Amino acid sequence: MILIKYLHIGIDDTDSPDGMCTTYLACHIIDKLKEVGIEIVGCPRLIRLNPFARFKTRGNGGVAFKILNDDKSDLAKKIVLDEVEKLAMFDCDNTNPGVVFYGGEITDEMVEYSFKAIYSFITIKEAEEFGNSIGCELHKFKKGRGIIGSIAAIGLPLEDFTYELLAYRVPENYGTKRHIDYDSVYLMDRETYPETFENVDYSEDYIAIEPKTPCPVLYGIRSNTVEALERAKKIVLVEEPVENYCIFKTNQHTDMHIQKTDDIASMKQFGCYEVVGTVKNKPTIIDGGHMFFYIFDDSGEIECGAYEPTKNFRKLVSDLRPGDIVKLFGGIGEQNTFNIEKFQVVKLNDVEYKNPICECGKRMTSAGKNKGFKCKKCGNKINDNKKVPIKIFRKLKNGQFYETPVSARRHLSKPICRMDL
Ligand code: ATP
Repeated sequence: MILIKYLHIGIDDTDSPDGMCTTYLACHIIDKLKEVGIEIVGCPRLIRLNPFARFKTRGNGGVAFKILNDDKSDLAKKIVLDEVEKLAMFDCDNTNPGVVFYGGEITDEMVEYSFKAIYSFITIKEAEEFGNSIGCELHKFKKGRGIIGSIAAIGLPLEDFTYELLAYRVPENYGTKRHIDYDSVYLMDRETYPETFENVDYSEDYIAIEPKTPCPVLYGIRSNTVEALERAKKIVLVEEPVENYCIFKTNQHTDMHIQKTDDIASMKQFGCYEVVGTVKNKPTIIDGGHMFFYIFDDSGEIECGAYEPTKNFRKLVSDLRPGDIVKLFGGIGEQNTFNIEKFQVVKLNDVEYKNPICECGKRMTSAGKNKGFKCKKCGNKINDNKKVPIKIFRKLKNGQFYETPVSARRHLSKPICRMDL
């Protein structure tokens, strides 16, 4: 058997809030490689890493792709490095590009490293030591922080995955208003959902495929299949030139950042979890529109939050009541609050305890502590102190998932329309 050798190429940290996008740079490099007869193998990968990483520009994404490792590899490396040098946003303090070349097999220790980059934090030194230990060729520009994400983008296995089609603008239009025909986006969503998703936030009338930053991306459509993306692209109309487009295979919308835990006490700051707990108190809203409540289990309790940007999701959260058992998905942020991305109702507490009804039909009142109940209308008295259970109507439904709106959703969060996949 002949073992095919690949050269893996990872790129990260090339953009800034003022421009560029590592996916665009990758797409541009892939074209440059094509010009000299070097084709990439399979889809390029867009890998989202720890959502709490400190130096991220937006969604903490690294990019990787692979080519055959042959006599053209040196030329490929030169093209990659030259283009990163040319196009990365070096003026920004926080832009510290890293490029990684790796010619070996993906090993278990690389997989472990990659999951660490999603679940926790890695220093530049740690990434450098690890990269050197496995034989990576590391190229650090400025501080070279990008090597952290580049290695992870190469090594992360994708069991569950989605695709994103990214269309790019011509450079003359960067920073100007995008000309996308919104009606065609609604049509595309109607024709292709749920094979494509996150296109539109209907509650906010918000076109989610259109970025709001001055980056090269014209729009990005997310889907379970390449075929649906090709269909969606034909439906979306734009009134400006498209320089290029590229389809990435990605861990977006897979819940890969979420770790299952059986006890609240084990949850740590900056971790993302799936956890089951009992609602302790009625959710309350504070100034600024953020909503908070506690859940508990045998091991402890934690404050949970649905923040103002989650808009109508807070309405659903406000319907929770003490005693409800819920499965929450989310992450523990700066304030040590568990920030909810979605929840599933495990068991509603649909029973309320009330004073008994008198024979005359009137609800009785307490006759004093441990003295039973009395009826104010007919004077009837009973000595039993027990209130009676009454089944109440709940808007929330057992077993049902509820999620934040598209406009407030993390790149990694799995939408409900993918929960069974
Ligand atoms: P965009 O979404 O526009 O591509 P971004 O949000 O991905 O931008 P980057 O410019 O890639 O932001 O910066 C994120 C930085 O954080 C990179 O240098 C990356 O290597 C680093 N990083 C990624 N994951 C971790 C981690 N787990 N621990 C420490 N640093 C990380």
